[in-house]
Amino acid sequence: MLDDARRALQATFGFAAFRGVQETVVGRVLRGQSSLAVMPTGAGKSLTYQLPAVMRPGTCVVVSPLIALMHDQLRSATANGIRAAALTSVDTNRAETIARLRDGDLDLLYVAPERASQPQFHDLLANAPISLFAIDEAHCVSEWGHDFRPDYRLLRPLLDGLPHVPRLALTATADGHTRADILMQLGIPDDGLIVAGFDRPNIRYHITPRDNPAQQLRRLLADHPGPGIVYAQTRAQVERLTETLATTGRAVRPYHAGLDADVRAAHQAAFVASEDMVMVATIAFGMGIDKPDVRFVAHAGLPKSIEAYYQETGRAGRDGDPAVAVMLWGAEDFARARLRLNEMEEARLPGERARLNALAGLVETAGCRRALLRRHFGEDAPATCGNCDNCLSPPNVTDTTELARKLLSAIYRTGQSFGLGHVEKVLTGVADERITARGHDQLSVFGIVGPDEAPLLRPLARALQARGSLETSEHGAIRLAGDARAILKGEANVAITLPPARSAERRNRRGA
Ligand code: ADP
Ligand code: ZN
Repeated sequence: MLDDARRALQATFGFAAFRGVQETVVGRVLRGQSSLAVMPTGAGKSLTYQLPAVMRPGTCVVVSPLIALMHDQLRSATANGIRAAALTSVDTNRAETIARLRDGDLDLLYVAPERASQPQFHDLLANAPISLFAIDEAHCVSEWGHDFRPDYRLLRPLLDGLPHVPRLALTATADGHTRADILMQLGIPDDGLIVAGFDRPNIRYHITPRDNPAQQLRRLLADHPGPGIVYAQTRAQVERLTETLATTGRAVRPYHAGLDADVRAAHQAAFVASEDMVMVATIAFGMGIDKPDVRFVAHAGLPKSIEAYYQETGRAGRDGDPAVAVMLWGAEDFARARLRLNEMEEARLPGERARLNALAGLVETAGCRRALLRRHFGEDAPATCGNCDNCLSPPNVTDTTELARKLLSAIYRTGQSFGLGHVEKVLTGVADERITARGHDQLSVFGIVGPDEAPLLRPLARALQARGSLETSEHGAIRLAGDARAILKGEANVAITLPPARSAERRNRRGA
């Protein structure tokens, strides 16, 4: 059977061999077994259903969340001579597609979950030969996943309606919780879980506080002449960064959902064809893009989750040549994310909180970034990789428990209604008008932080925000949260990691 598969692999796709777990996944599908394949971006997920779709009689129904993604896949499948169609609101040949489905004249049918869950669609499939259900971006089915789509939950009756058709759920990123949930939600047996290796050894991870993003990104561009992606958090930030980075003389294009579809398509095509372009984009950009020579992926702000970070950085260096992933993060990113938690439904809170804490762990760790990422995805990993910022130049870990207690108590004593700037002045003994008017120069915490420790206050506040011991109100006031009381009582310690480059920089500046 696998010999047939290898022949079909060569004949249809022109590939000499399977990659990684592809063979295992295809083997299971051909034996009629249901599976969940967790394979990182670029590992070749589409082939695992496209190949069986070609080999088995009948049609493979592919559930996919985005029309753009479906049409990308459709184009590449058709280019390989696979009989494929999509059934979406923008496809005008729907009647023809339905006729081809009934006649068994389609290998692949792409459909969105909204449509797939409708009774009409069930009826349609009941009268057609169906070989396989492929559920792409399967993490969307789980509230634990980073991109929950309620429509995915409605797929189950469709699958159960055709119990003999195997199911193949696919996702690039799912932690342990999410995997278990996907298996349960889609009715896939536990032994159907197949996880590919997550390591991307050619990507160098670099995670650093954002003190001057324009300058930090300009330097990144200067060091990396090849194509790159800069992820920004909002459309406005995309526009601003595009302008800023264009001053470097590099070809820079913006990409976000606010641009016309044809402008977006033109920018994407230009990027894919280019050897030096920088795409400044929201996370709307990247899914389904086949550009192997992306040399860097930068995040101008905190990504949504480790899963999202891994997926977005995974677009770098797919050709296997060295590439870098740079993340610039700020305390305000965590502040905003923690504020959003307040607006969230109760049921999603534990997942969202865990996601944020995992991100805080990633940005604050003094250990190997790669090891942390791989362990997050359930892999064993050596303690060091030699190809991330912390392995290449170990950061300075400073115990700041005492300073944290001073900071937290100053926040508490000033009534938890001021921003960090005000609290900093109180602690360092700056008696300006705002301070004296409120009598804050009379507090016991006034001036208790000396010039040696003062520079640590900002990084410390950032670390406390990241770990959730401090939060910021809508009005910018910082207040105690999480384990702040335990820190005050001396029951919890606080250490911060300071990038070595920054202390070196400071020394240089002083020397100059
Ligand atoms: P994913 O969906 O997992 O991100 P894709 O399905 O887009 O990955 O595949 C990534 C790239 O790898 C594509 O260019 C694809 O043609 C290529 N590819 C997939 N399987 C193989 C293989 N067995 N041998 C060589 N190239 C492959
Ligand atoms: Zn490392």
